[in-house]
Amino acid sequence: MSDTGGGAGGGPTPAAQPAAEQGAPPRTSRREFLIGVGTASVAAAGAGYITYATRNERLYTPGPPHSKRVAAVRPVVAAAPKPTRADWDALRAHLSTGRLVRPHEHGYDQARHLFEPRFDHLQPAGIAYCGTGADVATCLSFVRRFQLAVRVRSGGHSYAGWSSVTAGLIIDVSPMNSVSFAGDSVTVGAGLDLIHLYSSLAARGVAVPGGSCPTVGIAGLALGGGIGPLTRLLGTTSDTVTAMEVVVANGSELTCDETQNPNLFWACRGGGGGNFGVTTSLTLTTSSLTELCVYILSWPWSQATKVIRAWQSWAPHAGDGLSSTLRMSAPFGGSPTLSVTGTYAGPLRATERQLEAFYDLIGSGPAAASVRKESYLNGMLLEADCSSIPLAACHSGPGGLLPRVPSFAKSDFFTRPLRTHAIRVLLSGIERVASIKGATGGAGSITFEACGGAMNRPSQSATAFVHRDALFLAQYSTTWTSPGARNDVIRQQGWLRTYYQSLHPHASGQAYQNYVDPDLADWPSAYYGANYRWLTLVKTSYDPANIFQFPQSILPG
Ligand SMILES: Cc1cc2nc3c(=O)[nH]c(=O)nc-3n(C[C@H](O)[C@H](O)[C@H](O)COP(=O)(O)OP(=O)(O)OC[C@H]3O[C@@H](n4cnc5c(N)ncnc54)[C@H](O)[C@@H]3O)c2cc1C
Repeated sequence: MSDTGGGAGGGPTPAAQPAAEQGAPPRTSRREFLIGVGTASVAAAGAGYITYATRNERLYTPGPPHSKRVAAVRPVVAAAPKPTRADWDALRAHLSTGRLVRPHEHGYDQARHLFEPRFDHLQPAGIAYCGTGADVATCLSFVRRFQLAVRVRSGGHSYAGWSSVTAGLIIDVSPMNSVSFAGDSVTVGAGLDLIHLYSSLAARGVAVPGGSCPTVGIAGLALGGGIGPLTRLLGTTSDTVTAMEVVVANGSELTCDETQNPNLFWACRGGGGGNFGVTTSLTLTTSSLTELCVYILSWPWSQATKVIRAWQSWAPHAGDGLSSTLRMSAPFGGSPTLSVTGTYAGPLRATERQLEAFYDLIGSGPAAASVRKESYLNGMLLEADCSSIPLAACHSGPGGLLPRVPSFAKSDFFTRPLRTHAIRVLLSGIERVASIKGATGGAGSITFEACGGAMNRPSQSATAFVHRDALFLAQYSTTWTSPGARNDVIRQQGWLRTYYQSLHPHASGQAYQNYVDPDLADWPSAYYGANYRWLTLVKTSYDPANIFQFPQSILPG
């Protein structure tokens, strides 16, 4: 297994910068960078520093702090012409796919829906299916000309619906779903979904780390990190990316890797989707893997305190091959349950030894246990809830057998184990679900995903993915059956917010940028920590007019 730590321990390295990247920080020390910013910006204004800015776009000028800047960076422009039907038809004619879906056209409702039914009210002005970087550039030229809002969509799983926007253009990259192998690399189109990535990898006896949801898009996942069963072994998905093709705001399609546009490359590995441009393809390092042991364990709720204590001392510190998710959940009005599930990339006997160490810490074995060896693909299909349906039906679109489940979620990274009081808070929040009336099929849960291993080896500044010291990632979640009675759903969301507020003081203050949370006030620090400042400078270089924007998008510095 290769160590994909990438920048492990290396952090930023002093290196000569390409002209377009001067002033962007990751290639120098943070201190050197901060000293250099002012000089670079001044020099830039006179020397055409922002190579990729279009003529109308403004150069970087230092401004007030982030929160005061939001209004200031919105470009002030003369009223743009409204696109006519002929303009839209011309756009359609320029797309290699010929596919542009507009309101009132056949298939519009299907085309505009994201994975999350809560955002079914969004009414984009058009959904452009892009098959090439040139298609993307054509769309960007269109939105610049007509001053339209633009959003990028790969798998459509944004927790906040930010891959769509009413009255704007969606650039949908799903037609770009190719897969090609070369040595220990795989290059994939940005619109490939995870289960098709995994099945292509499995056919070659290799794997890359990724999430467990089968229909998440590789681009949205990798741009914000990517955490799943192989992350402790191989790092985040973004850690295995060795190159990307990105169409930036002025329509140029750029290769970014360690030597070409390295700061854009740095930002695109954890800086979050939709911020810097439209990724059209990604190259990732593969690792040999054909089998995975899968375990599912459960304990009675009465043992929860012991299990949680033991899990915290075990899962984040276990061998890299182990993944582990501790889940506590309850249906609204019902009783709580506790399970521990995961995988081990090793033989069955070694898996059992890992689990026995856990049982020893608890002082007893589980009430129910299933531990078995599976092929890598079957393991991922089990994670995806697709093990008993055909691969072709493992999605929630037409012909798919997976439901679109409405949900509302928040996240916290924890860098210290929960002690007695915090464990009490953790459990009582789930127990409270019993006394609340929720929507039909409503449930509340918290899951802890073990971090550590290869995920924590790179330095916090090696890539834009800053969360390198967590023991585990918590996801607070509430789900219901679509559409859900309004007041019941509001009560469930209220429960979740209260629960989050009660446990959040025990967390690190960091949150996962792939679980975007519109409630988060200090999201720049929670998602990006000290890397946010650097991300704003990369944004300045590649999207100074802030074409790619959404409520929590990175702003030009
Ligand atoms: C049911 C479910 C399960 C999940 N499970 C996991 C998990 O196991 N592990 C994990 O780490 N995360 C998980 N996630 C979170 C997931 O990683 C993020 O929501 C991710 O951003 C989704 O990517 P997407 O392409 O599917 O979504 P989209 O909604 O298409 O995109 C998400 C964001 O990325 C931007 N974006 C999309 N494509 C591009 C592109 N080509 N170029 C530039 N920007 C782009 C969008 O504009 C948007 O801001 C899960 C989410 C859901 C809803």
